[in-house]
Amino acid sequence: MSQMPPVTLVWLRRDLRVHHNQALAYARQQRGPVICLYMHHPQLATVPGSRFETAVGAAYWWLLHSLDQLRQQLSSMYIPLVLHRGELEHIFKRVLKYPLNISQWVWNRSYFPHQRHLDAEVEVLLRTHGISYKIFASSLLYDPELIKTQSQRVYNQFSPYYNKVKTLEVVVPDSNSCPESSSATRQFYQDYLRGLESESLVEWGLSTHQPSWTRRIRQEWEPGERAGLKAVARFVNSTQSAADYAGNRDKPAVNATSKLSPYLAFGEVSHHWVWQQMRSVAWGDNSEFLRQLTWREYSIYQLYHHPHMVTEEADTSSYGIAFRRDAAVATDFKAWCQGMTGYPLVDAGMRELYATGWMHNRVRMIVACFLTKNLLIHWLHGARWFHDTLVDACVANNLAGWQWIVKVMPYYRIFNPVLQSQKFDPEGVYIKTWVPELAHCSSITVHDPYQKILPSAKTGSSPRPSASQQHYPWPIVDYKLSRQRALQVYQSARQT
Ligand code: FAD
Repeated sequence: MSQMPPVTLVWLRRDLRVHHNQALAYARQQRGPVICLYMHHPQLATVPGSRFETAVGAAYWWLLHSLDQLRQQLSSMYIPLVLHRGELEHIFKRVLKYPLNISQWVWNRSYFPHQRHLDAEVEVLLRTHGISYKIFASSLLYDPELIKTQSQRVYNQFSPYYNKVKTLEVVVPDSNSCPESSSATRQFYQDYLRGLESESLVEWGLSTHQPSWTRRIRQEWEPGERAGLKAVARFVNSTQSAADYAGNRDKPAVNATSKLSPYLAFGEVSHHWVWQQMRSVAWGDNSEFLRQLTWREYSIYQLYHHPHMVTEEADTSSYGIAFRRDAAVATDFKAWCQGMTGYPLVDAGMRELYATGWMHNRVRMIVACFLTKNLLIHWLHGARWFHDTLVDACVANNLAGWQWIVKVMPYYRIFNPVLQSQKFDPEGVYIKTWVPELAHCSSITVHDPYQKILPSAKTGSSPRPSASQQHYPWPIVDYKLSRQRALQVYQSARQT
């Protein structure tokens, strides 16, 4: 073994890319053989809280395809991608058994609670076995430890945080200049690395047609770094979308946002790189996009400083809100998941989510508010459904989104789905796309076809449903009463 050249192992997590990957670039710069390791811990999916850090459902589908693409890309660079599932210690033992001289582990630091825990465990294991390691702080634009108020406190509101980071320079790690692999490394790859023991993606569930409900998702999305880079280029170069972003980003029928979220969530495109691209393009005021990107950074910052958001709050916490416990909760929740609540904008969003694995940000806020306030159903049910069905499922953004609705947004603020769709989808184009039963409604009646939600509004003269509309449900909850109930329950939670 001592005759063997030293091998650098790159531990990959949600940084499934070759470009701007500091740990990978460092490993390649060592000029010796490199292997990449990806560990999956499916057992975590059954642990409350930690389940939000494990890819399941639509995101798992995305992960497998992303890994498949990365495996091909790495192998063209003479780097194998080895896969292992299970407990860390067990995986570690298997890797130690490799007939290789693995002299160093390198990785990009993660800021998510369970991953931080793994970081610490891996460090202990490596130290015990006398293996050196190097960690790169390249996953975020700003080190969460360094962003503090003048009195050295953690920012707990977005605007002051944003004002602070706006003044800081973003240092984009230069991680692209890597030497070509030498002929010795290429030979070593053929002799030793290519056949290295690894689980296969097929064992993990990679298949062209599974799970069956991803059919539409498969048509809609192409996971992986290559598609991610194309999506960035498309967005940056389209002056139309860029210029219109600020004005149109709240309109679900307009394709105005970048749809980069799954690529960012899996690190298929580097956050730094997207930031740099956006900063450099001449489309006037791009600050609105950078502001949104900073929301992601802020969610991770919050989770870093308040890891109990996952370890405790994502377990059961209701923040003192007396969510419903009656027998009809399950039926109402099902109607929400299936987009059958009788509230057209809510139903359009939920159907878009299930069909495509993605939902527009404004609609995410509206459906989350509807579930937790009008239906008074525990936010965790919604967060779990999102986690299972979103291709961009991200523990920080998902929990921050839900907790913002139930904890941060003033208790008396309750989105009225009809007013919201009249404002942001005035012609009902988005609603009609996802709720075909309402395709024949006018742009006036489509928001409230039975005139039940806003009976006082001028929604047309005839509430009689058309034939196709007959399949569309009546509102499952009386809007006015549900609003009053939410105000009472949230106010009393605030007081206690
Ligand atoms: P763009 O508008 O093009 O924004 C660019 C990038 O900025 C996004 O890709 C995303 O990374 C980031 N971003 C934009 N808006 C937000 C935001 N409000 N909070 C945090 N980051 C943001 N986003 C996820 O990536 N994963 C989730 O699991 C997730 N769950 C959410 C749950 C709820 C209840 C809510 C209200 C929001 C959630 N979001 C989540 C945030 C947001 O809805 C998505 O990031 C956004 O819709 C993605 O579309 P886009 O890439 O076209 O965004």
